Amino acid sequence: MKEFREAGLREEIIDAISEMGFVKPTPIQDKTISHLLASDRDLIGLAQTGTGKTAAFGLPIIQRIDPKSRDTQALVLCPTRELCMQITKDFNSYSKYLPKISVAAVYGGASIDNQIRALKKGVHIVVGTPGRVLDLINRHCLMIDAISFLVLDEADEMLNMGFKEDLDTILSSAKSERQTMLFSATMPREIAQIAKNYMNDPEEISAGQKNAGAENVQHHYYLVHARDRYLALKRIADVNPDIYGIIFCRTREETQEVADKLIADGYNADALHGNLSQAQRDLVMNRFRTGHLQLLVATDVAARGIDVNNLSHIINYNLPDDPDIYLHRSGRTGRAGRSGISISVVHMKEKSKLRMIEQRSKIRFEQKKVPGGINICEMQLFNLVDRVVNVEVNKVQIERFLPYIYDKLGDIDRDTLIQKFISLEFNRFLEYYKDAPDLNQNAQTAGKSTEREKGRGGSGRESFIPARSGKQGSFSRFFINAGSRDGLDKPAMIKLIATHLRNRDIEIGKVDLLKNFSFFEIESSHDRETLKAFSDAEFKGRPLNVELTDKKPFEKPPEKKKFKRK
Ligand code: AMP
Repeated sequence: MKEFREAGLREEIIDAISEMGFVKPTPIQDKTISHLLASDRDLIGLAQTGTGKTAAFGLPIIQRIDPKSRDTQALVLCPTRELCMQITKDFNSYSKYLPKISVAAVYGGASIDNQIRALKKGVHIVVGTPGRVLDLINRHCLMIDAISFLVLDEADEMLNMGFKEDLDTILSSAKSERQTMLFSATMPREIAQIAKNYMNDPEEISAGQKNAGAENVQHHYYLVHARDRYLALKRIADVNPDIYGIIFCRTREETQEVADKLIADGYNADALHGNLSQAQRDLVMNRFRTGHLQLLVATDVAARGIDVNNLSHIINYNLPDDPDIYLHRSGRTGRAGRSGISISVVHMKEKSKLRMIEQRSKIRFEQKKVPGGINICEMQLFNLVDRVVNVEVNKVQIERFLPYIYDKLGDIDRDTLIQKFISLEFNRFLEYYKDAPDLNQNAQTAGKSTEREKGRGGSGRESFIPARSGKQGSFSRFFINAGSRDGLDKPAMIKLIATHLRNRDIEIGKVDLLKNFSFFEIESSHDRETLKAFSDAEFKGRPLNVELTDKKPFEKPPEKKKFKRK
């Protein structure tokens, strides 16, 4: 892969993007930047969101703008207000060391007068949603007869949102000797038609497979009875205490309903949909972007402008009818080199939709079991312990309360004290998931679940038992080159294993913790997955080695397994 400098970018731009943390071009940038700097030929870029496509078209445009002219030289069309603002912000960052290049964002739902005032001052680049751009053209406030660059960003989304006619009008009124760039995650027939009608012999650049989902996204589904959908959702949230994700619903009403229930049940969640005012939406988006909100319950349209790179999960509370929409949803995780999980909660009748998405999008769904009470309690407990270990103590603030605290707690022995503190928060999970039933649709106990979890009694089967070694079934035994000398105790070891496995449904059996190494058991059907999960794993900067073994704890590990500790 080329460096940015080799692609022909100016030093001022390279300095600016270095400050943004761009070291190497992403694949779409690698292919696009040199093309756009060297050629006037139109371009179609097949790229998902999160692949760095804004810089792919933005950096060459910034470089080719003439700051001395007052003409609008570039028009970027994109589907949402949020994306407009994001692109504008990015363009301003790319050009911060260049002579002033002015960029204006124009979108619906905001005062048109302010936007007209901005345009009157003369702007080099306009970034806008099609409806508002057309409105401004019709009012003669935006002249696009001098534009040299026209970008259609997230073209498929613009079509999905019903902007086809507006696009046709804008494209046919722009100057014909322009360079047109079209970016889209998918290439449905309608996009090919736009390319045919308004582009001139475009070069086609693809950053990955056509119509393919992001590679580092795993696609999981849970099969539950329709009435247990919400309960399954809660379990997904509970077994992933650090979840940071979007829950997609089909309608505004369902979005609000799910969000309301989650809030009432004590989750850090909120709703985002079109029935909210712009101010309310901005507030929710801001809280979500800054990480103050863990779960955003949203409709597809409302979630479109969200540009967050580190989402851990996407949850399809309901599957969309259109496979392309599924891809857009799942493409919101697994961005900027991170991995992510897209979960779909489905019932039996929806299985055909999964097959359709698989065929159309060339992805594979893996069925997962809805986590049981045991898994959830365990993950919550480990998370709680981690939080206690990592919490910072504000000695100055706490000092004046200490005499009272010591007076109250001083006589309680250490073990009891630890147990009491942990129980304070953990008890509600224990209580809630005590006798929690199996929600999986093919499970015998399903059907009684709703009653039990609503707290109306019922006959759930799964009782909370802290140790799993008694579970029936076949387990394989693994050696791992980490032990108590690495500061691990049993819960920490189980957490370490679970974190690497990522698959919460895999049963971890007995763990034998020794000084320099340990052994653990995993359901035999997951041998390969376990070995793969640890293939490049590290712990405290040291490579982890995990092997299948039949050795007992008192036996030494294989001779070759000696590792230097730091
Ligand atoms: P985009 O697909 O344009 O929405 O970009 C996704 C994210 O990747 C944005 O947060 C960018 O700031 C970031 N990004 C884009 N290009 C690079 C790069 N070359 N190196 C590191 N991060 C990048």
